[in-house]
Amino acid sequence: MQARNKKRLFSYIPMRAIRFYDTASRKVREFHSLRKGEARIYSCGPSVYAAPHLGNFRSYVFEDAVKRVLMAKGYRVLHMMNITDIEDKSVRAAKGSMRRMKKITRRNESQFHRTSGNLNIIPANKYPRATENIRFMVRMIKKLLAKRLAYKDGGGNVFMDVSKVRGYGRFSRSRFGRGLGRKVMKDDYYQREAGDFLLWKAWRKGDGDIFWKTPLSKGRPGWHIECSAMELRFLGVPFDIHEGGVDNIFSHHENEIAQTEGATGKKPARHWLHCRHLLVKGKKMSKSLGNFYTVEEVHGMGFGYDAIRAHLLSTHYRRRLNFTFSGLRKAADDLRACRRCLSSLCACRSGKESPEADRLAKESLDSFRSHACDDFNIPAAMEVFCHYVRRVGRLAKGRRLGRKNAKLARETMLAMDAVLGFVVKGGWCHGN
Ligand SMILES: [Zn+2]
Repeated sequence: MQARNKKRLFSYIPMRAIRFYDTASRKVREFHSLRKGEARIYSCGPSVYAAPHLGNFRSYVFEDAVKRVLMAKGYRVLHMMNITDIEDKSVRAAKGSMRRMKKITRRNESQFHRTSGNLNIIPANKYPRATENIRFMVRMIKKLLAKRLAYKDGGGNVFMDVSKVRGYGRFSRSRFGRGLGRKVMKDDYYQREAGDFLLWKAWRKGDGDIFWKTPLSKGRPGWHIECSAMELRFLGVPFDIHEGGVDNIFSHHENEIAQTEGATGKKPARHWLHCRHLLVKGKKMSKSLGNFYTVEEVHGMGFGYDAIRAHLLSTHYRRRLNFTFSGLRKAADDLRACRRCLSSLCACRSGKESPEADRLAKESLDSFRSHACDDFNIPAAMEVFCHYVRRVGRLAKGRRLGRKNAKLARETMLAMDAVLGFVVKGGWCHGN
């Protein structure tokens, strides 16, 4: 039913062009996909050494909204999100046992999928696991070695030689000064140092039985090569949009570009989209700072998943979102008010048809869409949605809404909710 409604509404209110801020060019650019009608997207997915927290889900919920805007515009979206199930922290968490690591990472991965479902996130087309794509990483590293962009040390580690990478640092606008000569042995999300980074990490004692025997050496891949290899395998480069959190800009994405460009001669993506952090009491929510909640914990405190989703979407993605329980309560109240209005609308059986109601529907949908297409201003679109629902509710109460008006109003709300994704899942208007 939703698809049919969308089609009908699109015919008289066309979607605007989608424009958004591209990290690489530091400009708001109009989006054009490489293949007509198809948008190929790669998102850096969760590192599953621990269960993803609310802060991680800010990015995933935002990325879901991006996908929904593209779908509303009529794009077929091909979306990949990797699962980082091997890196320093998962090896540490498993204390060097491959069996334990698999158990931990699979458990957290399942939890990630469950929570994504609870938050009404449309699943990606594929969630490739790093551990299942080792040979593609090895293949890429071999290419980089052959081109002398990488080198092997005496211990079996392979490093990317950043002094050979033209324009290294340009993407993240980094100036490294004298820092570039060093070797970076760490391999995690919060790496801030610049230098020759690991492509392949040779086995060492603490790794236990966590290793792969490859022509490079006995060891495991570095984190950055995981994404470069998997996006090349599953999407091909360049693809349309690469998404991630702002802390991925340096070093992860800078390094990804160096690897992909080095191995293929092509940039990975045409547009880069980065979502800012979630703050708790002024500090970034992160596993390493220990100031985090999981979505399920917050849900356990009595908040609906829809309210959590709405709160996560309530601030523009290029601004930091301050997570507060009062913000969450406001989101829950707003949604309750929307539902109340909707049910009064569903109960609307009689009333005078009014051109005003239809005009309001068209204007609201047009304004909703222009916000959604304008650098994904979802908070402004949400405002339009709530405002519209309230006004329609008042019309229904005053018996100034005929059956035809009510039908159009419901269709309008469905079209908006196809982008927001927080009302329909809870179920409303049964039997209509
Ligand atoms: Zn990545």
